[in-house]
Order: sequence, then structure tokens, then C-alpha cells
Amino acid sequence: MTGDLVIVGASVAGVALARTLRSRGFTGRIRLVDRDAEEPYDKPPLSKGRSEEPVRLLTRPEAEQLGLELLLGVEATGLDTGARRLALSDGRRLGYGALVIATGVRPRSPAWTGPGVHVLRTLADARALHADLARGGHLVVVGAGFIGAEVASTAISRGCRVTLVDPLPNPPARVVGRRVGDRILTWHDRAGVNLRLGRVVQALDHLADGIKVRLDDGEVLRADHVLVGIGAEADVEWLAGSGLHLDDGIACDRHGRALGADHVFAAGDIAGWAAADGGSGRRIEHWNSAQEQARCIAATLLDPEHPQAPCEVPMVWSDQHGRTIQILGAVDPAVEPRLVEDEGRLLALWDAGGRVVGAVSLGWPRGSLTARRAIASGGSVTAVLDTLAPLEAAR
Ligand SMILES: Cc1cc2nc3c(=O)[nH]c(=O)nc-3n(C[C@H](O)[C@H](O)[C@H](O)COP(=O)(O)OP(=O)(O)OC[C@H]3O[C@@H](n4cnc5c(N)ncnc54)[C@H](O)[C@@H]3O)c2cc1C
Repeated sequence: MTGDLVIVGASVAGVALARTLRSRGFTGRIRLVDRDAEEPYDKPPLSKGRSEEPVRLLTRPEAEQLGLELLLGVEATGLDTGARRLALSDGRRLGYGALVIATGVRPRSPAWTGPGVHVLRTLADARALHADLARGGHLVVVGAGFIGAEVASTAISRGCRVTLVDPLPNPPARVVGRRVGDRILTWHDRAGVNLRLGRVVQALDHLADGIKVRLDDGEVLRADHVLVGIGAEADVEWLAGSGLHLDDGIACDRHGRALGADHVFAAGDIAGWAAADGGSGRRIEHWNSAQEQARCIAATLLDPEHPQAPCEVPMVWSDQHGRTIQILGAVDPAVEPRLVEDEGRLLALWDAGGRVVGAVSLGWPRGSLTARRAIASGGSVTAVLDTLAPLEAAR
């Protein structure tokens, strides 16, 4: 790579990229720009409520030690790919040899705002939400995706009353299939979360002493706090006119090189990397993928003749009610998997011609590891079952 590297977004992907480049001996100038004024922090702990303290991805002293320039509290507002210049909110224009855009996503804008109504993406969002939850009371969670389900779990463990509302009758089934989804719903049920599934929130009305949440069947919930977790969207307006292909994020080839301009890459939630078969890209909003894409871009920047593509088995996790859900490889929710169970732990396996291609484990790290190895090596369902059975018997 020739010239300076500028990274927009100093978070999971951006910091992983900068760290990887330094650990691999890159000595050039690296500037990390982020509109968040906080020292970079990790996002998954924000919904899991394990600790009040943020998990820092990079501190200022570390950045200094690594020779990374942190420009925090500054937003990227425009990009001229012809002149290779990035415009910042403080009026500066940064020239670059290579630019990596790792700006993540923003919560889908809820129709409702006001006191006690939260979204969750940033540390500031988390602080506001957790301060409200510390007061107890009734939390209504709108949307039972990963973040909504995790916050429901955290809030109930902190003594709040919780109601989880979602238009789908079995929200986790959208990702993991009906039977595994059923199992996850029983966790909420047993923990005491009130489920309002197959229901749509029609209105939120602020009262002097709380919030009235009206559902489509006429039920009215009286809430003290509301979390709206209805998904996220790409924030690409600032890139209009840059020449980049913007289609629900930044379209990239399978090495993260943004289509439409040279010397520009994208990584993490904002980036839609082309599939291995050349098919058009789809954004992936998961931590492991952001990390792996960052490592690929680092390798490609260091050795452009041999661009890297992701090769690890994709993995997503979520922690709910004291158990970890792991989703590995290619899981097709429309196809019912083979289920393996052991004392409340569960492993679901998806196969193609007998070879494991995807898996979901519920509270079963060993099952997950075994499935992951099988997916990586083209192992069979039978081999996974054989591996797990004697180990379980030996316990
Ligand atoms: C509450 C929560 C819980 C999660 N839990 C899990 C989990 O359990 N498992 C899992 O796999 N994934 C989880 N995720 C998803 C995971 O955190 C993301 O996939 C990951 O953070 C993506 O990293 P990123 O670097 O692409 O984006 P982000 O981490 O979102 O970082 C983007 C950064 O870009 C900055 N930025 C945006 N626009 C601009 C701009 N114009 N100028 C300057 N800076 C800008 C932002 O301030 C931000 O710091 C969770 C996410 C959240 C929010």
C-alpha cells in the first residue's frame, strides 16, 4: 500500500484492521476517525448487561503506543474518490492512499420517541437504557430480534417486569427454524417474560406517569420504559456522489474492495461483500464477520497481488437467560434440522448430502465446537453424532 491509511469507524472492524496492520509490521500512517467521542468500545456487552463498565477496544495510550492517530468526536461528511479526500465535520479534508469505511449501521428509526423510549447501538444509548432499568418497573421491548431478546433477558434478571412484543408468532424461527425457535421461546417464558407474539405495536402515548403501548388487538400495556429493537439500516447518505455503489450498504467485491472507486474498502456491518461464487453481496451484522473482514483487508493492503477472502466458518452468538446460542455456517430456517439433545442442551444440524453445512447450538459449547470442525472439514452428520455420544456417555 502506498500513502496514508484512513479508517472511518473506530470500532470492531476499524480497530481490528488497525491492530492487525501494526501486528503485521505496517509502519505507515494510520488515522482512525469516529463520530463517537468515546474511546473505542465493544458493542455486544451493551445488551448483555454483565458489567457497567464498557469493554474498550482501544485506549488512547494504547493508540499512542501503536502509532495510531485517533480522531474521535469527528464525523466523516463527504468523500471525493477522484481527489482521494475525505471531508470531516470539523472542516478538515483528509487525503488518503487507501480508505476503509467501517461505519456500522444505525438502529431503524422508530416511529416513537420521547422520555423512556430507547434504541440500543451506542454506549450512550446503553447508559441511558441501563439507568432506566436500574429504577425497575415495566419494560416493553418492541422487536424480539437478538438485541430485543437480550435486553429482555437482562432486564428480567435485574428485577424488571418485561413484555416482549413481535409481529412474528415465533421470532427466532426466522433465523434458526421453528423447532429451535420454540426452544428459545420457552427460555423467555420460564424466565417470566410476558410474550405478545404475532402482535404489532400501533401507538405509544406518553402519560404523566409512564407510557401507554397500544397493540393491534386492542390490548394496552402500561410501560415505564420501552426498548425499540426493530433492526438496523445502513447510513450511507454522506457517501452520495462518491461513485461508490450504495445499495443497502457499500457493495464490495469478495475482498472488501468497494465497487465504483479505487483504493476504497469497506468492512463490517456497512459492507456487502460479494459471495464466493461471485453472487452479489449481502451485509452481515455480526461481530465475527466484522473481525474477519478487517483481517482480510489488512492482508490485501499489505499484499495487493494476493487479495484475501473470508475463509472461516461464519459464527454468530447471542446470550439469553444465562445460555449461549451459537449459529454456525449455513443455517436454512425453512429446512428442519436434525436435533441432538442432552440434558437441556441442544445441537441442531443442517446437512447437504450428509455433510454438515450449518448448526445451531443452545447452551452446548462442545456441541458447537464439534459442529464447527465438521463444517470446516466437510465432516458428516454421523461423525458429529459419533463424536458427541461417547463424550457424553463418559461424563
Ligand atoms: C447492543 C448490541 C449487541 C450485539 N451483540 C452481538 C452478539 O452477541 N453477537 C454478534 O455476533 N454481534 C453482536 N452485535 C453486532 C456487532 O456488535 C456488530 O456486528 C459490530 O459492532 C460491527 O462492527 P463495525 O465495526 O462494522 O460497526 P460498529 O461497531 O457499529 O462501529 C461503527 C463505528 O462507526 C462510527 N461512525 C458511523 N458513521 C460515521 C461517520 N460518518 N463518521 C465517523 N464515524 C462514523 C460509529 O460511531 C461507530 O463507532 C451486537 C450489536 C449491538 C449494537
